[in-house]
Amino acid sequence: MRRSGAPSQLSGNTAKKPRFMPPGPAKNNGPPLSHPQPEPSAPPPPTPALGNVLLNKSKSTLCHGRLTNFLFCFAIAVLYITADPFFVYFKARYYSVMWCKASSRKHKRWEGDAVLVARGRTVVLKDMEGRDIGRGAGYKASELESLCEGQTLMVGGKQIEVMGVISDEDYAKGRCFQNAAVETPAETVLKAPVYRPVFKSFTKPALKGGALTDSEPEKPICKPKHDPNAPGALVMPRPTTDHQWLYNKSGSPLVDVVIDPHLTNHLRPHQREGVVFLYECLMGMRLPGRCGAILADEMGLGKTLQCVCVLWTLLRQGPYGGRPVLKRALVVCPGSLVKNWAAEFNKWLGRERISVYTVDQDHRVEDFVSSPLCSVMVISYEMLLRSVDQLKELDFGVLICDEGHRLKNSNIKTSGALTALSCERRLILTGTPVQNDLQEFYSIIEFVNPGILGTSAAYRKIYEEPILRSRQPTCTEEERCIGEERASELFRLTGVFTLRRTQEIINQYLSERIEWTVFCKPTELQLRLYGVLLATRPIRACLSGASTHTYTHSPHLACINALKKLCNHPGLLYNTLQEKSDEMYEDGMMELFPEGYSTGAFSTADSGKLLVLTDLLSAIQVVLVSNYTQTLDILQDVCDHIGYKWCRLDGQTPVAQRQRIVDSFNSPHSSSFLMLLSSKAGGVGLNLIGASHLVLYDVDWNPANDIQAMARVWRDGQKKTVHIYRFLTTGSIEEKIYQRQVSKQGLSGTVVDLSKKAEHSSFSAEELRDLFSFDPNTTCLTHDLLDCQCTGDGNTPGFGKEIKEDIGRTCQLGRHSDSTVSFPQRVSMSELMHWRHFSGGVQSYDDIYLNHAHKHITYAFQSTTSKSQTTV
Ligand SMILES: [Zn+2]
Repeated sequence: MRRSGAPSQLSGNTAKKPRFMPPGPAKNNGPPLSHPQPEPSAPPPPTPALGNVLLNKSKSTLCHGRLTNFLFCFAIAVLYITADPFFVYFKARYYSVMWCKASSRKHKRWEGDAVLVARGRTVVLKDMEGRDIGRGAGYKASELESLCEGQTLMVGGKQIEVMGVISDEDYAKGRCFQNAAVETPAETVLKAPVYRPVFKSFTKPALKGGALTDSEPEKPICKPKHDPNAPGALVMPRPTTDHQWLYNKSGSPLVDVVIDPHLTNHLRPHQREGVVFLYECLMGMRLPGRCGAILADEMGLGKTLQCVCVLWTLLRQGPYGGRPVLKRALVVCPGSLVKNWAAEFNKWLGRERISVYTVDQDHRVEDFVSSPLCSVMVISYEMLLRSVDQLKELDFGVLICDEGHRLKNSNIKTSGALTALSCERRLILTGTPVQNDLQEFYSIIEFVNPGILGTSAAYRKIYEEPILRSRQPTCTEEERCIGEERASELFRLTGVFTLRRTQEIINQYLSERIEWTVFCKPTELQLRLYGVLLATRPIRACLSGASTHTYTHSPHLACINALKKLCNHPGLLYNTLQEKSDEMYEDGMMELFPEGYSTGAFSTADSGKLLVLTDLLSAIQVVLVSNYTQTLDILQDVCDHIGYKWCRLDGQTPVAQRQRIVDSFNSPHSSSFLMLLSSKAGGVGLNLIGASHLVLYDVDWNPANDIQAMARVWRDGQKKTVHIYRFLTTGSIEEKIYQRQVSKQGLSGTVVDLSKKAEHSSFSAEELRDLFSFDPNTTCLTHDLLDCQCTGDGNTPGFGKEIKEDIGRTCQLGRHSDSTVSFPQRVSMSELMHWRHFSGGVQSYDDIYLNHAHKHITYAFQSTTSKSQTTV
């Protein structure tokens, strides 16, 4: 046995302090230096080797001339002094090894595979899940550098034998772990949809010598269900020979799978691609032996239609002898969407083609079997939990989880119940990007394609920890490289069965959208009360806090809510104050309200925004959105008072009634002039294209809520120009929340993350000072902040100055989210410089409805979105 006499742990500490060596030529495309070669036994030159190898960052520019050489050496010297642990700065080498407990027996009993990381004079032994299982030090660096197959080494109490060298790339990407990890097909990019021009209709396979070849069509055995040669036909890709070996053991003839032309006619190009993608995933054609998929298209791109297409196809057709791939399909979705799913099936396919079974009080799971005409069951997550035992009896060929980001916490009961259904084809639908949190990401991936990322422990060691470490500001160059490589490897592995497109791709099909931000003049009463509120004890207490303190609990939330209520209508504040238990209540406050002020008799004239609203509402059908039920109550009273017919959808609306309300509102004969909508009600699928005007009466911390509300009206199928009006009380907390929104993401932004809690709960003292200040004299605080030099005549101001963008979104993969979250003051609102600015003194707003409300508006911004671009 050669070289088995590696130093023991006891004598192995001689190399703890590395000698300072001038940098020599690096092993890999390092800088050419004129220094003498280091002694063979010296530690290798400390270069951030991975950075060199992986990023091809040439360091040669650093090393021209003596001065730079000196600086380079100096920098390395500094690294030596400050580094901890020191070995990080040596070039690491990686070996695949076998290990066993040290023994003198001749025949070793190998315990398992492992990865040996050798660096300088030290080694770390990692098991195949990335865990450290041994360390050693004091070896000869030159020896460690050139280990080759068959050599042995003692590491801790373990003996290892080298099996081979692992490349830097394989280590960085983490591929050396989990040997069994999936081989992904070479072609991982989404294939373009297949439009097969001419193809033989009839095929007969001949299973010879492992290859399945098409023979001449002597006898028609199977015909495609639809004509693959028809213009615009969408033909699914044919399975590979490997796939045929796996799934066509009986050698049935190959038949083209063609999407029902009835459906194809409705598909946008991105939906055709999506259908092919889903088909390939569910058929196990993208990843051998795996049939899971994630469709994470943004809201409004037609995820449901794509699913309907692929389900209908698989229920009726199949590539092998034309046999349908599925008998039954199960769709699980939030309760509010159950009826919606059934309606979508009926809309695209018609009741005569498919009958969808929706589980509710009257339709139990057990009765599904006795409804032989039904092949699709739709059930809510809540019902699923209650009837999981009955569901297990049924054999579903595919499981679709709508709003599937609910499964992100793998511990919750729902995931358990779904996993118990033992259905291999699993499809998650979500409008939320799934990679925001690496643990949630794992849960979702694990659900659709179990085991693909290894065990939870291995995933943490191999992906999560290195990626998170690489995002720490204190990480080393090597850690950063490895983290980035692991992240991109993770994306590569999961990208094969994940598809996400953003709304931009359909903007070209959408009607024009004209968006207004309307700054509404606060009334005298609002101004007075605002001043009093800012001087109350709770707000003063918030402001007097130490500047480093971060508030996570009330009273600041109570203060913010009081101010927001006041902005919506003083009456809302009156109601809370009347109870006197409210934290904001102080003696003398009630006297500010006019004499005889009472619940139920609120005047329109008390709220600036309400004044604008009542003027704005003329003969148009409007959706009116608020975050507050109480505000909706007031708006409802106002409508009654004026005599407008309204309908209403909020959290209290029974699920069973929603679809009826929506249908009657969208009907061209609708008598409802106005839809009162709670921003949190209704789920994603709510479609209100009957209206083309939408008013956002108040502003939410989370821009996703506003975007979701807009998407109810501005969506595929809307033919009219859409007008959005966002109301803000001038100078108030609402403007500040709006600014924060704009900074967080562009207003036309595409990242919708509804999973994040809307209510922001943590603020720095500086943020609170800004929130709790008020300028009664400004006509538009936001315009003041923009530093815009325009005259407010509605002409495009253009770029006054380029302002640095601040990305506040947190995404754990990728480097762009490192920015510390600070309250944006003058930054990141550059997008608003593309909008038209109208001061209150302008003659006309180019909007007949706004012109009505002219005298209550202090300022307005406007932008137009049309045909996939923002113009002004
Ligand atoms: Zn301006």
